[in-house]
Amino acid sequence: MGKVAVAFAAVAVVAACSVAAVMVGRRMKSRRKWRTVVEILKELEDDCDTPVGRLRQVVDAMAVEMHAGLASEGGSKLKMLLTFVDDLPTGREKGTYYALHLGGTYFRILRVHLGGQRSYLDVQDVERHPIPSHLMNSTSEVLFNFLAFSLERFIEKEGNGSNSQGVRRELAFTFSFPVKHTSISSGVLIKWTKGFEISEMVGQDIAECLQGALNRRGLDMHVGALVNDTVGALSLGYYHDPDTVVAVVFGTGSNACYLERTDAIIKCQGLLTTSGSMVVNMEWGNFWSSHLPRTSYDIDLDAESSNANDMGFEKMISGMYLGDIVRRVILRMSQESDIFGPISPVLSEPYVLRTNSVSAMHEDDTPELQEVARILKDLGVSDLPVKVRKLVVKICDVVTRRAGRLAAAGIAGILKKIGRDGSGGITSGRSRSEIQMQKRTVVAVEGGLYMNYTMFREYMEEALVEILGDEVSQYVVVKAMEDGSSIGSALLVASLQS
Ligand code: ADP
Ligand code: MG
Repeated sequence: MGKVAVAFAAVAVVAACSVAAVMVGRRMKSRRKWRTVVEILKELEDDCDTPVGRLRQVVDAMAVEMHAGLASEGGSKLKMLLTFVDDLPTGREKGTYYALHLGGTYFRILRVHLGGQRSYLDVQDVERHPIPSHLMNSTSEVLFNFLAFSLERFIEKEGNGSNSQGVRRELAFTFSFPVKHTSISSGVLIKWTKGFEISEMVGQDIAECLQGALNRRGLDMHVGALVNDTVGALSLGYYHDPDTVVAVVFGTGSNACYLERTDAIIKCQGLLTTSGSMVVNMEWGNFWSSHLPRTSYDIDLDAESSNANDMGFEKMISGMYLGDIVRRVILRMSQESDIFGPISPVLSEPYVLRTNSVSAMHEDDTPELQEVARILKDLGVSDLPVKVRKLVVKICDVVTRRAGRLAAAGIAGILKKIGRDGSGGITSGRSRSEIQMQKRTVVAVEGGLYMNYTMFREYMEEALVEILGDEVSQYVVVKAMEDGSSIGSALLVASLQS
């Protein structure tokens, strides 16, 4: 071999070696990046861990806080609000009634026609519209004028058929925010949640605001009941099945109510009702316990929200927030490794990833996870290998599993408080034979998250059985109530007339 040829071969070898070295270097770097995201995922899994022992601690904490909230005003983060609902609809109601429901994302209007028998419930013309976002931080006047205008249009569409006797229409106002009631049809707003911010309305009588707006439009409608959405769901549940004693909503936000004995509502001594009980609106979104598994993402989400240090439980389990927790994890991974490519500015926008998209990714059953790819592309992240798409599905799973399991612990906490969890409650020393006489207990559940996100629902129901055990679980029935808040509120206003 000549000198030139030897030199050429040597150069080629050196070049090949350095190409190989670059490739190995890249592979090592990419492995390191991958290791970074795996570590972030592992940390998330650890921080979100909800073994049954921890869930039981949450159950106990919920029951204890319920007691404290019933014992004195301000005794707990759980407000345990009186609703002045002591009798629930029986099925004997008759006539035509309306409900207007202001949720966190949607407002709904509907009419029910009742024929005096449980089986005769005709739900008519359910209208469901997204709440225009500008209303959420507008003024009281703008919000209520909008609601009155929507009702007017609803009524115009029905012609004369539904109101042929020319009588005043009875309306239930289903209001999904905390209210301090002074009667079943009046109460003042305590605070806004779920991103609403119309500060002048805090302290105002909500039913009066709506009635005023209806009067200004000349609508012959009467706000006969101001109903928390959970109480609406309980009313519908009870109407169909009188074993229903608890109702929970998992929608934009989350809350629960239940039927409590009046003598257990210690902060209102002398409270008399014909039934001996009253529905208590827990406002459980504000529940807090050191046993809740909290991550750095929860802490940041809370600090950057419009209601920091408030609604801690709601921020871990409800539809408004799950998407944003997932977004924060993806953002951190994309900042600390390049597996998501260049950092997309869209990923930094709060609430840009909706929980609907989280469920769509989580439940994507296409072989290459195309739905995941499509949703991530909308977030400015494209061309991801399937391995990275799977990682995103895993994040959705961890966040939703924690939410479903904590939701179950919340429900079990209520069952514990009322002695329906098989343990005999937290204060009473019941005998084993009494404990064994477990009553059938129905929990009415509604809300967009529960109704539409199968994995959330499954995790919740699975954890409830895990906490209660097979024996007691047989007596606990979870029933889905589609549009329960609105329909049930209309039933409640009907029950007040009969
Ligand atoms: P509101 O809270 O206004 O009463 P809903 O009870 O219908 O309304 O809940 C709406 C919320 O439910 C949405 O904001 C979203 O967070 C959640 N949601 C709706 N559909 C889905 C879905 N397919 N997957 C996951 N979450 C969903
Ligand atoms: Mg709702």
